[in-house]
Amino acid sequence: MLSETTVIGSFLFVLGACVGSFLNVCIVRWPHEKSVVKPRSHCPKCQKPIAWSDNIPLFSYILLGAKSRCCHQRIPFRYFFVELLTACAFVGFYLYYGLDIILIPYLFMLSCFIVATFVDFEHRLIPDEVSVGGMVFGLVFAALIPSMFTVDQQAVEVGRLIMRIITTLILLDCLVSVIRYKKNPPKNEDGEEEEYIDFWLLGIICAATIFDWLVENKLSVIQQSGLKSIIPHVVSLDIAVIGFMVGGGSIYAMGVLGDFLFKKESMGGGDVKLMAMVGAFLGWKLAILSFFIAPFFGAIYGIYEKIRTKDTVIAYGPFLVLGSLISLFWGELIIHWIINGYRF
Ligand SMILES: [Zn+2]
Repeated sequence: MLSETTVIGSFLFVLGACVGSFLNVCIVRWPHEKSVVKPRSHCPKCQKPIAWSDNIPLFSYILLGAKSRCCHQRIPFRYFFVELLTACAFVGFYLYYGLDIILIPYLFMLSCFIVATFVDFEHRLIPDEVSVGGMVFGLVFAALIPSMFTVDQQAVEVGRLIMRIITTLILLDCLVSVIRYKKNPPKNEDGEEEEYIDFWLLGIICAATIFDWLVENKLSVIQQSGLKSIIPHVVSLDIAVIGFMVGGGSIYAMGVLGDFLFKKESMGGGDVKLMAMVGAFLGWKLAILSFFIAPFFGAIYGIYEKIRTKDTVIAYGPFLVLGSLISLFWGELIIHWIINGYRF
């Protein structure tokens, strides 16, 4: 007799392997801004389409002996590894959380993390499809699934305050750019004038601030209008919005500070968007914690890379991902430990 856990676990393993197979396509195509739907999978060397029977997650790699059928090109181990990793992670999350609706957003986030990690290591960039797509989905999930967050009014208020401080800093920075560049706009290499105001950024800040202000002050309107049942959804979306703003904003503000202090680009835009996404999924506290955990591992790897390749620029995304996963599982414990004066 098979237990329920075994059946669901096996199903999630297979599902994870299939998702992993799709993530491989994203990892290869997104950095080159190619569609992941068309064309169908083909051999990168001789361009022949790959038959479905040679494209079965995990199995095909083993059965083909890590070589393509058409021209015996070596298939990188990464394909197999990503499929196995995704499959194991899906099962792991299920064993940890049980069959809970929370698995949907978390497995989605995890898939984004896997793509971001492998692309960033290889290309030093995080595709917008992952980070921007991830943030949008994070906010949508939060609105649909209020159980993503436990509501802690005090934490919401502190997060809101941090969000407002950060947005004020960003707006001041924009104002400084306007004053500095109004008469003398910056030029790119081709001598064309560059945009120095990011209207997307300003639009997002306005929208988030207005939404949050409405939730803070006008929630009673919904309460009286007989739409009481949507309140948990609105509150959960607000927590995600605060997380999104604090997560992305804290890295953005650090970047502004870094530019100011060191006069060089210190943080990539990809990292800002990735942390905004993490904030939307995990809330502001865990996003900030991830942001502080990441440099520990980043520094260890950075020293290792410097010795090995004399390269000082490292991909930071994978360490933000690692920090986020540590925060997800042990964040509350770590925060409790810090607040207790580093004692349990
Ligand atoms: Zn081939």
